[in-house]
Amino acid sequence: MAAHHAPFSPSKLPRLLACPFSANFEHKESDRPSSTYAQRGIDLHKLLADYILSRTPLPSTLPNEDKEAVQYCIQYLNSLPRPASSLVEYPVHLNDLCYGTVDYVHILPDHAYVIDWKFGIGIKVNINEQLFAYALAVLPHIPHVRSLTLQIVQPAFDHCPSQRITLTDLLQYKQRVLDPFFRRIQSTDPSEWPINPSPSTCRFCKGKMECPSYKKTADKLAKKVFAQFRQPVISFDNWTQEEIETYLDHRSFFNEFFKELHNFYLTKLISGEWKSEHYTTTTRRLPRKWTDETTASKWLLSHLSEDRVWKRTLISPTQAERLVKSLPSDLIYQPTKIALKKVKKDS
Ligand code: SF4
Repeated sequence: MAAHHAPFSPSKLPRLLACPFSANFEHKESDRPSSTYAQRGIDLHKLLADYILSRTPLPSTLPNEDKEAVQYCIQYLNSLPRPASSLVEYPVHLNDLCYGTVDYVHILPDHAYVIDWKFGIGIKVNINEQLFAYALAVLPHIPHVRSLTLQIVQPAFDHCPSQRITLTDLLQYKQRVLDPFFRRIQSTDPSEWPINPSPSTCRFCKGKMECPSYKKTADKLAKKVFAQFRQPVISFDNWTQEEIETYLDHRSFFNEFFKELHNFYLTKLISGEWKSEHYTTTTRRLPRKWTDETTASKWLLSHLSEDRVWKRTLISPTQAERLVKSLPSDLIYQPTKIALKKVKKDS
């Protein structure tokens, strides 16, 4: 393992705190096809920053879902008190290992909102160590502020979790968690950094297919879980409840494992590095898209009425509440969906 200290960027901090060893893989370029989603995130962050800084209109060619996502963030911003100043896509530095770019800081006379735009559509994100690190790193730039709101805005889920924190509590967090962590990291060789595999920790780690612990965990779980696998699986009726629960316990790990294995193998075939008699690649057609929405809409409007060409969608109750503060309760209902939840046992 190369003896270099990979940067512990705030956006990766939740995983790096749980498994510091994974920082060794941070320099690796991602092979995941999902990196197109990462590019979408980068593009939408830039459009939003351009809008905030200079009111640059969104391009007319922007797909509707992307436009709605950026407009959601703009609407959130409009619901905040008028700022004294702001920082947009601002580089911040917590220490020599941990630095990055904070999306947006909305500065009032003695309070600030540290905001992270999340354009991901995969999982809901809640307040975590990333926002704490950004808030701490931004403090030298907002010395008059006594308290902060850590805020995530995730349009895909209409999800805006926040946490208000005083300056004292934030600095205590630094002393209690981050300072000892970074002291330990700086005084230890990277090959000795603690390694802690778990489904949530390993999920976005770029080093999965090279990590000995991940492979060991996958092998161990596979042996345990698939020991009772019966073929052919005709019906689950003859499975015991306990057998089914064993599978369910580990489903997120295996879902992720097979997805990663698939992507790794696909990359090897596409690059020509591996050849196989058993697998080949195929191109699946995805839903068609307009090459240019403006030209397409003009053509459609010359053939169809406006209401058949454009879909209008109502804003969500959460978005409406930000604009009118309170809504009549009979206008809203809370749909529910029953899902499985693991029972936590007292330790
Ligand atoms: S795969 Fe998991 S255990 Fe291995 S380095 Fe990455 S996060 Fe850590």
